[in-house]
Amino acid sequence: MFSMLALSLALAATPLQDDPVTPADRLAHEQMLTLDTHLDTPEFFEHPGWDFNRWHNVDFDKSQVDIPRMEQGGLDGGFFVIYTGQGDLTAEGYAKARNAALTRAMWIQRVVAANPEKLAFATTAADAARIAKTGKRFVYQSIENSYPLGEDLSLLKWFYDHGVRMASPVHSRNNQFADSTTGKTRTWGGFSPLGKQWLAEVNRLGMVVDLSHSSDETFDQALALSKTPIILSHSGPKAIFDHPRNLDDDRMRKLAKAGGVMQINSVFLVAYDDNKARGAVQDRQDDWWALSDAEQRKLIADKAVADATDPYAAPDFELFMKSLLHAIKVMGVDHVGIGADWDGGGGVRGMEDISRLPRITARLRKEGFSDTDIEKIWSGNTLRLLKAAEDWAAKNAAK
Ligand SMILES: [Zn+2]
Repeated sequence: MFSMLALSLALAATPLQDDPVTPADRLAHEQMLTLDTHLDTPEFFEHPGWDFNRWHNVDFDKSQVDIPRMEQGGLDGGFFVIYTGQGDLTAEGYAKARNAALTRAMWIQRVVAANPEKLAFATTAADAARIAKTGKRFVYQSIENSYPLGEDLSLLKWFYDHGVRMASPVHSRNNQFADSTTGKTRTWGGFSPLGKQWLAEVNRLGMVVDLSHSSDETFDQALALSKTPIILSHSGPKAIFDHPRNLDDDRMRKLAKAGGVMQINSVFLVAYDDNKARGAVQDRQDDWWALSDAEQRKLIADKAVADATDPYAAPDFELFMKSLLHAIKVMGVDHVGIGADWDGGGGVRGMEDISRLPRITARLRKEGFSDTDIEKIWSGNTLRLLKAAEDWAAKNAAK
């Protein structure tokens, strides 16, 4: 058991030894304003004993984002997600989902309130730089899946009033607003009539429309209907891996032409590698903080065995970069950013958590991109969209 523990720790430590980030890269990274548009970390907030202000190990509890690692990885902030899984389109389903979303929103409020020296809420595009200058991390909020709104669009205003500035209509299955790209059928052929009202309300309030998880038809309609440029907060190019969650080059070009942005995901780069034994070990990791010391040691040992006997065919950092570089080639540096789906299934070999983010900056500099362009990718493009949404709402809509 002890030798297995040693093996596991050795595996975890390996990537740091050949880290190609030079001091100059690191300095450049530190001086850039950086954000990720899809942090699923709020899922961890409600676990008893899990503290956002403590360092966690991805090999232990699978978590990829916390304040110490934001500092280590030079991540100034991001969009923290109020995610709700898709359930039945019934009054009961809507009520349950609304409770889940409100609980998640409450946890974000609690965690920010509990860390006033380290975190601050951001609601305008200008807030990011202002907060970063104070040494704090900025917390934007977004909604992934508008299912919890039920059929009551007035709830969007409630979320706006509590700081939400980005929203997506749909997740993995079709709902009352739109078709999902992974839905088994097409219910609406894009947006439902209520979904078109949803889109208008998101514009009216001054939020950014997020089309990750939407079907191609939903995407096409949003591109035509949205008053401000749209974002795909965690998506990728189909040219790298042909999956419904990824976008074809033609649509990527249309998105760029309409002023939009695609934030590159670290998921859907290869076929999902399902393995029962490894999956069972990973399920046990979900309760890491509830395990005794002895149970944690046993779990580490079992994980080492699972990893050694059937290595996980995870994509690596090079493939993530290939995806990012392809998107930049097709869309241009003004239309690409980073949304790696941390704590939502993201992470690649060589970039297992956000502490490794300086690698992206280092690699882009090596590819010859200027620091100015790299900063657009890290934050400028997303903030431009947020500003456009703010400005349009200020001009055209009364709140
Ligand atoms: Zn997602």
